[in-house]
Amino acid sequence: MNLSNHETDSPIWRPYTQMKTTPPPLKVVKGEGVWLELEDGRRILDCISSWWVTIHGHGHPALAKSLYHQAQQLEQVIFANFTHDPAEQLARKLLTHLPDALTRVFFTDNGSTAIEAALKMAYQYWLNQGETNRTRFLVFEKGYHGDTIGAMSLGIGCSWWEPFRPLLIEMDTVPFPATFDDDPEVEIKESQALEQIESLLKQETYAGIFIEPLIQGAGGMRMCRPEFLRSLQTIAHQFGVLMIYDEVMTGFGRTGELFACSKSGTTPDILCLSKGLSGGCLPLAVTLATETIYQTFYSDDASKMFLHGHSYTGNPLACATGLTSLNLLEQTPQRFRALEALHRRYLETWLKGHSRIEQIRVCGTIVAMEIITDQTPGYFNTIGSELRDRFLELGFFIRPLGNTLYLMPPYCISDRELESMYQVISKVLDT
Ligand SMILES: *Cc1c(COP(=O)(O)O)cnc(C)c1O
Repeated sequence: MNLSNHETDSPIWRPYTQMKTTPPPLKVVKGEGVWLELEDGRRILDCISSWWVTIHGHGHPALAKSLYHQAQQLEQVIFANFTHDPAEQLARKLLTHLPDALTRVFFTDNGSTAIEAALKMAYQYWLNQGETNRTRFLVFEKGYHGDTIGAMSLGIGCSWWEPFRPLLIEMDTVPFPATFDDDPEVEIKESQALEQIESLLKQETYAGIFIEPLIQGAGGMRMCRPEFLRSLQTIAHQFGVLMIYDEVMTGFGRTGELFACSKSGTTPDILCLSKGLSGGCLPLAVTLATETIYQTFYSDDASKMFLHGHSYTGNPLACATGLTSLNLLEQTPQRFRALEALHRRYLETWLKGHSRIEQIRVCGTIVAMEIITDQTPGYFNTIGSELRDRFLELGFFIRPLGNTLYLMPPYCISDRELESMYQVISKVLDT
């Protein structure tokens, strides 16, 4: 199949794309469920929920309907002096699904800005109590938190940011105890990570610890056990530093439960959500905080307010789809809960024991594995783009992170559609 039969003179500069060597983009004319329909009539199976956001599939009628109704009512309003039902209802509904300690909802626009807000909030929390020296944060190796300056700094353990290093805020990085099925070393990895964290916390006064709970996304779909988060929480409490969860990707059913914090039985002090929040319709994010944090900003002193906000903060259209999306998740939790067992079944049938695969791991709706190659493993390993092009020719959109292959389908996927992904992976890896 010829991937280059589209316009090549587009003025658009695309994200995370080497424009010189990439094939021209495919023009999508319609999305329906797990399917993307191209201009030339081909149908592509979206195996990664369009960069992890499309949790209910494309073109969901309930989301479209709520968007249409809200657009006729109120499309946007400044969020400093005004409020509206979609934001109020979404905030309240979100809190009902989260640990009780989280009581306050700050609206932001996307994952990166949710993280920036969390970073500033954590710092100012200490500052508002007169602690001016709490400027440092602990972060995990291969963590990814977005691509603004603060978020890149927190994700300095991710190999992509090397060129920007001189621009970044300094962080202290600790190992992430990434594990996989039948990993004999998981406990050693966890205790080594915890030891290192404890030793740094003894030496330095930190403001907080940022972590992607249960699954590090862009860093390579690296998974840790819930036990690790519980131990981390114990240490964070012991040293009085804030635990900040980046659930931008893991939120809204991805881990097989609505949130990684509930799945692991842990409670962060600050929580960031985005991606699936609007049901994959519009950019929207929230940064949630505990009452203790909120109270340090609540004051007669104007300088203690949280000095942050975006033009589109709490956009009514995005909030309306967010509310509908959360309703859908409440109505059909079996959809995201059932996927782990299906992944395991098809892994067993199609990929288990394959000579080119190692480190298989599954968490809820996500499955990941390493492809064995002669090249150095990592994001710039070219096996990823070779596989992506090959899958695309066969009608599947799978976008490996270097040599890490993963599937993150929309929850509306049928058993047969899911199995077809495994069949195609097995077929491509055999050749
Ligand atoms: C995608 C992602 C971000 C950044 O979100 P954007 O909306 O792309 O800015 C932050 N953290 C995690 C864990 C993510 O997966």
